[in-house]
Amino acid sequence: MSSQGIILADLDGDRTWRLADYVKRGGYEALKKIIAEKIPADEIIGEVKKSGLRGRGGAGFPTGLKWSFMPRAFPGAKYLACNSDEGEPGTFKDRDILRYNPHTVIEGMIIAGYAMGCERGYNYIHGEIFEVYDRFEEALAEAREAGLLGRNILGSDFSFDLFAHHGYGAYICGEETALLESIEGKKGQPRFKPPFPASFGLYGKPTTINNTETFASIPYIIREGGDAFLALGKPNNGGTKLFSVSGHVNKPGNYEIPLGTPFSVLLEMAGGIRGGRKLKAVIPGGSSAPVLPGAVMMDCTMDYDSISKAGSMLGSGAVIVMDESTCMVKALERLSYFYFEESCGQCTPCREGTGWLYRVVHRIENGLGRPDDLDLLNSVTANIMGRTICALGDAASMPVQSFVKHFGDEFAFHIEHKKCLVPPQVQYEGS
Ligand code: SF4
Repeated sequence: MSSQGIILADLDGDRTWRLADYVKRGGYEALKKIIAEKIPADEIIGEVKKSGLRGRGGAGFPTGLKWSFMPRAFPGAKYLACNSDEGEPGTFKDRDILRYNPHTVIEGMIIAGYAMGCERGYNYIHGEIFEVYDRFEEALAEAREAGLLGRNILGSDFSFDLFAHHGYGAYICGEETALLESIEGKKGQPRFKPPFPASFGLYGKPTTINNTETFASIPYIIREGGDAFLALGKPNNGGTKLFSVSGHVNKPGNYEIPLGTPFSVLLEMAGGIRGGRKLKAVIPGGSSAPVLPGAVMMDCTMDYDSISKAGSMLGSGAVIVMDESTCMVKALERLSYFYFEESCGQCTPCREGTGWLYRVVHRIENGLGRPDDLDLLNSVTANIMGRTICALGDAASMPVQSFVKHFGDEFAFHIEHKKCLVPPQVQYEGS
């Protein structure tokens, strides 16, 4: 874990997750300022807009704009939900935020509740990380005890309460409407949209859902100002961002850096490629983002615009690094199995198509590929994309299309020669 930013910075103490430690780091100052100065909600939303903060869960949608969709005048309950259900291969940043700095998420959610007129929020935490759930519950208890959560916060007429909700490990529950279904106690399956959660969300009421890292950025924005946050990054890409670097690097882990930092710098922070090997490919934004050849990535900066221009997505910031020992067919086989396994099965193109993709890649990997298999893969993905209820169909298709596009020669070699193009002496055992 390393930080040149605002969320994982100054976490050197033993018990950085405790309220007292957070307060020493300037924690809850933003909330106190809002309450003391009675800052109007529109001003807070304006500051978030000014900051250029974009949703850190994957879509990169402008947060201030999303908040402005919430109908403040709606009579009755409105809800907030925090999406801490990170389950995409390569993504492991939100659990470190909750593990080491949970109060910044709580403060961010209280401020969001104030700005959007919500009195209740839920943090949906991934089902396979139990100690993080327990730690978040402890932080909630501390905040309640200190009068920072619950009725009449800090003696004001503003009330907001927040609850942790444990997911059960289904990847699809990270899709925002499946997450809402799951909180409601139903099977976690995505809903048809529209209506969107801003008008029909949790229990049919207006709801705003943001990612953990997004909420964690809010206290800094309110404390230091939107302009200060924007200046940390670059235009249209405000602030710093956590990148979960995994794969063939010497120091895998979470790195918080300003958006716009060259990829080569991030790679160096992660200790470079293990064993002094050559960089082959990078998935820059979680497993559903298209893979890019290493040489293309070396020309990129780590921000939404640069990665998008190169043909991929910054997504959740999960950077999967692959060196020259990687068999791209094997790598795609593993990814395709994941999406096949995690499809909820509601829509035919995804339910059938993800299985089809996996089986075709599996047979290529196992020396049973057919000459027209690459055309078949492209055809199946084209028939999935844009034809499903949620984005999982596209998420399963984009890796396939990009692996075939950039590394088609390896797939063709597997099909023709029934073996891998990467020489065995270059491959690591099990790679
Ligand atoms: Fe379920 Fe896949 Fe359809 Fe999403 S795209 S609703 S995961 S079947």
